[in-house]
Amino acid sequence: MNHGFASLVQGGSCEPFHWEARPLGSQEVRIHITHCGICHSDIHLIDNDWAISQYPLVPGHEAVGVIEEVGSQVDSSRLGQRVGVGWQSQSCGICPQCRRGHEHYCAQSEATCVHRHGGFARDLVVHQRFAIKIPDEIASAEAGPLFCGGITVYTPFKAHRIQANQTVGILGLGGLGHLALQFANAFGCQTYAFSTSESKREEALRYGAVDLVGYGSSTFQKLAGHFDFLISTVSADLDWSQILKLLAPEGTLILVGASPKPLNIQASMLINGARKVAGSVIGNPMDISEMLAFCARSGVRPQIEVLPFAQVNQALDKVRQNQARYRMVLGWDVT
Ligand code: NAP
Ligand code: ZN
Repeated sequence: MNHGFASLVQGGSCEPFHWEARPLGSQEVRIHITHCGICHSDIHLIDNDWAISQYPLVPGHEAVGVIEEVGSQVDSSRLGQRVGVGWQSQSCGICPQCRRGHEHYCAQSEATCVHRHGGFARDLVVHQRFAIKIPDEIASAEAGPLFCGGITVYTPFKAHRIQANQTVGILGLGGLGHLALQFANAFGCQTYAFSTSESKREEALRYGAVDLVGYGSSTFQKLAGHFDFLISTVSADLDWSQILKLLAPEGTLILVGASPKPLNIQASMLINGARKVAGSVIGNPMDISEMLAFCARSGVRPQIEVLPFAQVNQALDKVRQNQARYRMVLGWDVT
């Protein structure tokens, strides 16, 4: 048997839950979980915001632990290895996207906690490709948030070839945003944080922001036309026509936050100055390894608050109320 915490109904609290342990496929590994971060996508899933949730729902896709069992075709040297699992836990491996190394675009992709039980659990079974080794320099509690939050904001820098000295605005200083700020700073960008929370100013500056700017403030107006890139990690709707005014000609707004409503944008806002709007989703396993190595070297780390798994609902409430500073992490052996 496996056990953990599940939301039993849409929007419900997470309750202790037991289920039949999954048999191990030949290419799979069983991970004994020590920690799991809480991403806002877990909240979207619990609330069925994307109309894909099934209950009981065991959330969790920033899982970290130790490989305790390996399938018949997995090298036994992986036993005891410290690994993490992010949003994705399987891909077909043979489609053109997978063969190009873009597993995260695979149409057959499986998500760790969609239609299967995720990381708010004692054990997790995944294909060995998606159980990614954690560098020794990164503590287990800090590693979890890198597997979804971290890779999601690392990928845009790589995919859009964002360079040192370019001007980057990070919208929303939550789990993803505070990591985006650190990456932008580590890559040598000139970085601004856009936030509804003046209380985050001190940390924003510590993570390298030139300034923390309120939406619609006088500083916001002065920064019109200033940004090569804006990365939105905001989980809510913004006044996108105002946000686009911040972009320099040929600038790009990259959306990673899942704003619920359609974007209300005039074509002329993109046509004039050839501005662009793009989306970005997680990252492939190779890039996760690369990002982990970068964090190990550069010192980029999530700022976390660790609670025992038994306090999962308190931790979820903090995320819902935008009180997390900046990522809540659940741990089994935490008191
Ligand atoms: P989070 O920790 O809750 O942070 C979201 C931040 O958005 C908040 O801290 C807040 O920052 C800002 N915000 C919240 N409500 C707002 C509002 N009404 N108006 C303006 N700003 C608001 O969430 P997260 O875990 O970082 O995730 C952020 C989003 O990314 C979620 O929608 C999640 O589903 C999505 N996501 C996408 C991917 C992907 O692959 N594309 C991967 C992971 C997560 P301030 O206090 O600074 O204003
Ligand atoms: Zn996530």
